[in-house]
Amino acid sequence: MGNGADDKWTITKDMVTDCNNIDIKDIEKALENNEFKIYYQPLVDSQGTIIGVEALSRWFSPKYGNIPPNVFMPLLEQSNYIYQFQNMIFELACIQIQHLNKATNSNIKLSVNISPIQFKNDNFKNDIKNIINNNNINTNCIAIEITESYPINEIEDIIIKLDEIRKMDIKIYLDDFGTGYNTIKYLSDFKFDIVKIDKSFIDKINENPDFISSLIKMIHSVGSKVVSEGIEKKEQAELLKNMSCDIMQGYFFYKPLNFNQLLLIMTNNI
Ligand code: C2E
Ligand code: MG
Ligand code: MG
Repeated sequence: MGNGADDKWTITKDMVTDCNNIDIKDIEKALENNEFKIYYQPLVDSQGTIIGVEALSRWFSPKYGNIPPNVFMPLLEQSNYIYQFQNMIFELACIQIQHLNKATNSNIKLSVNISPIQFKNDNFKNDIKNIINNNNINTNCIAIEITESYPINEIEDIIIKLDEIRKMDIKIYLDDFGTGYNTIKYLSDFKFDIVKIDKSFIDKINENPDFISSLIKMIHSVGSKVVSEGIEKKEQAELLKNMSCDIMQGYFFYKPLNFNQLLLIMTNNI
């Protein structure tokens, strides 16, 4: 276990200092020069079988080095480039995973993180629709992840827009559950297809297993499935399995992989 190649993404102090100099022109150039890439982190069921992947963006900058998303996403979000970026990631990820499913005769799900800012864009729904139609994507395999960790004021509006996306047969995951505001009251009304329990809870599972077990029961009680994020240890995986956690994700199973690494793993699993 613990496959993958994400160690270089551990951010160093030097990189943070460098990152402070990044400006909008760098982002513009990075988009022009195709410097953003997609990595895929597998999600596994209780048997350890890959049943889905989460698309995670990376910026390979010749000028600054490897910049992780928690540095470049806020920069994108502050600019209008977020829309172009997000469409590009969504489209490429859909195309690649559809290709992988065909090539390996599998049916894994793809989830793509969508910034809540995206919902302010009136074209959002149509952009998604066009990408799906233009590339003949089977929406049954596609999900979007919306994070709870963002201070969302217009949550009612977002829920309406999420509902429209769901009508296209796209699944909706609630990411980073437990870190944010507001969403608990929407858990039972909206019925997210999947709720992802944040790594910060999984890290402390030994200290308070009953709490995690109750969280899982609560999520199940509203009809959603549970993903536990950031599993790094075998004991955590065992505990979660015994608590009927449906799906697991974390370095213990797989780190984020580039497309060729993922294809290789899926091909060998046939
Ligand atoms: P997230 O969606 O909650 O993704 C999970 C993050 O935890 C990823 O970090 C992943 O590499 C990391 N992770 C997974 N398993 C483990 C583990 O066992 N241990 C540890 N220490 N970390 C683990 P990453 O790739 O740096 O992404 C950070 C956040 O940036 C993501 O959190 C997501 O909110 C955002 N993000 C990444 N790509 C995109 C994107 O294309 N669009 C948007 N809007 N946000 C993105
Ligand atoms: Mg996510
Ligand atoms: Mg998360």
